Amino acid sequence: MTVELLCVGTELLLGNIVNTNAAYLAEGCAALGLSCYHQSVVGDNEERLEEAVKLALKRADIVILSGGLGPTKDDITKEVTARAFGRALHEDAHTKERISGYFRHMKTAGVTENNWKQALVPEGAIVVDNHNGTAPGLIIEGEEKTAILLPGPPNELKPMFEEAIAPYLNKLVPEGIYSRMIKLCGIGESKAETMIADLMERQTNPTIAPYAKTGEVHLRVTAKAKNEEEADRLLEPVTKELYRRFGDMIYTEDEKVSLEDVVAALLTDQKLTLTTAESCTGGKLAGRIVNVAGVSGVYSEGYITYSNDAKSRLLGVSSETLEKYGAVSVQTAKEMAEGAARAAVADAALSVTGIAGPDGGTKEKPVGLVYIGCYLKGHTRVEEFHFTGNREKNRDYAVVRALTLLREELLANRG
Ligand code: ATP
Repeated sequence: MTVELLCVGTELLLGNIVNTNAAYLAEGCAALGLSCYHQSVVGDNEERLEEAVKLALKRADIVILSGGLGPTKDDITKEVTARAFGRALHEDAHTKERISGYFRHMKTAGVTENNWKQALVPEGAIVVDNHNGTAPGLIIEGEEKTAILLPGPPNELKPMFEEAIAPYLNKLVPEGIYSRMIKLCGIGESKAETMIADLMERQTNPTIAPYAKTGEVHLRVTAKAKNEEEADRLLEPVTKELYRRFGDMIYTEDEKVSLEDVVAALLTDQKLTLTTAESCTGGKLAGRIVNVAGVSGVYSEGYITYSNDAKSRLLGVSSETLEKYGAVSVQTAKEMAEGAARAAVADAALSVTGIAGPDGGTKEKPVGLVYIGCYLKGHTRVEEFHFTGNREKNRDYAVVRALTLLREELLANRG
């Protein structure tokens, strides 16, 4: 079964927005075992869109379109695709009611006349409710070909794909694709790949595909199976083997769970509070931590201490330490973590101090040198890292390494 992606929008053609929907949909379709040989982008131009839709429908069994479902005149995806299938548009009462409800809930000025355009659906189409916006998703099933129309905003498209479209597509593939995402931290991609080279070499079903993420490695283990039971039977031994090889480096098997989720859960389980003291990451670490819903139970404050003065004033880092060892040193990282824990009256504290670049490096202390401190209940561990990315990447790596370090300490503390 082949699928083709067609993203609609002049903003995409001009490079004003990055086509993240194409990457997301391509990954989602591949995970379902669908073959995708073409992706294209077309502007909000009726003639060219019609041409692109027809070409895509000729080449693939299923065409997934994103964007151009909005209420304005230049949103023409639905009209053009319906025409390609020879279907007229009619008002869908359920969608009209849902749009009214959406505006009531949002307490906005009210529905404008052009919003009702979104309640028009092609005859015989399957309407997919949009829980995060007004434009519904649409599935138009022809005799041989199918078109799936999704709204452009990623916060609308992604939940719709996950909740309705992926299950729909899964039913079309005779053998379903089932996968687990084994997420690792504290190991680089090449080391991880070397450790499973033999498994990857002889893999058929299931297969293992590594993905390098900043500071993390994700392994997608995918099985082709008739049903979930059979898939579990295939996936379980491989998962077990990965645990045997990577042990505690694996922090989750759940695609949706992040490293900060796991760290927050460990803190909650152990009834510990956390604070942060950041220099070169400038709040990025705190930002990752507060990504976790409900984290306020364990994290109430953090410090951004970029200058030496701030490190002394807010965290009590001694001026002797700063003078003798410098701001980027084991000693400073240690005093930052301990000072933050003291100031915030927290059980645990993470500190980050380093040279993110591009300037500021010396022979002794090059760009990419970062010290991360982790204080936990009276004991402080400091680790030295040498990152090789640009300023942005080095700061991101530091954040992941800090979370990894805290996770290790919390696992050890759990016993
Ligand atoms: P709306 O109902 O909000 O108008 P729509 O289905 O008409 O949605 P568009 O108007 O094409 O969608 O795009 C709305 C916004 O969605 C864009 O401004 C952009 O921010 C985002 N968007 C659209 N297409 C993509 C894409 N392919 N990748 C990432 N973001 C996209």
